[in-house]
Amino acid sequence: MWNINYEKAKDLENILNENELAMSKKFGQNFLLSLPIREKIVSFMGDIGNKSVFEIGPGLGAITSLMLERGAKLKAFEIDHGFARILREEAFKDEENFTLIEGDALKTLFVEKEIPNLIVGNLPYNVGSVIIANIIEKNFLPDRMVFTLQKEVCQRMAAKEKSDDYSSFSILCQLDYDIKIAFTIPRTVFYPQPNVDSAVVVMTKKDNKEVEDGERESFFVLLRALFSQRRKTIKNNLKALYSPSEIDLLLKKAGLSEKERAENLSLVDIIRLLRVKSEL
Ligand code: SAM
Repeated sequence: MWNINYEKAKDLENILNENELAMSKKFGQNFLLSLPIREKIVSFMGDIGNKSVFEIGPGLGAITSLMLERGAKLKAFEIDHGFARILREEAFKDEENFTLIEGDALKTLFVEKEIPNLIVGNLPYNVGSVIIANIIEKNFLPDRMVFTLQKEVCQRMAAKEKSDDYSSFSILCQLDYDIKIAFTIPRTVFYPQPNVDSAVVVMTKKDNKEVEDGERESFFVLLRALFSQRRKTIKNNLKALYSPSEIDLLLKKAGLSEKERAENLSLVDIIRLLRVKSEL
């Protein structure tokens, strides 16, 4: 029986030493120690009993164990082969609801045939936003996602137009999901302690699609072009896609000024641009 106190950095260190492993900065490894905070994160997942849950980056299983206790059917994606060995051979070897997929989640996640009910994870700082962007761009959309990320990344995900944190990443995240920052987590409850604070972001899938599946690719192309040079006007940025006369007509029909910048456009404005263009 795996009996480890995830709240004690010393215990975690001992396990790493016994297995001749070390924490790697490259993989953004910071274990979340505090049990009340891990329980709070799981509470934001809702009722996970019998639900299919994908966890990205289980580490040594600090959050995994709580989800299994609550009856989740869990598939965990871990890049670190040393951690993977501990999870498979020790921590959850008798758990029938636990499956481990070893490797880079950016590659292994999208090979999966079934989209789960939830995707969750205390994501590595270096690739957290890339993983989320991939999930959305690949239309691999569960009903809910609950991620622990650097606080500033969460703020960018939830930002609205005309604010400093707003970017194409905000729009990407909000295309299919309502975004709520659930709570912030001080850096002091991680081991090793990172240089930044974290937050938990809850992404709840919208009831209705903002864009049809057939429009998604063109939407992403338009979004990238609009934000390609932040200080330039949308009229300028759209030159990468359309002729000057097309741009003039497009902006006129969409009711947007030539001087407008992408940071002032809402998701609705961008969808309007997309639809107007398809009708030109
Ligand atoms: N879930 C654990 C916790 O909360 O204590 C560990 C979280 S730690 C911030 C991030 C985890 O993601 C590490 O276990 C790391 O090895 C793993 N990881 C990093 N990059 C990954 C990737 N591309 N695919 C899968 N796992 C990755």
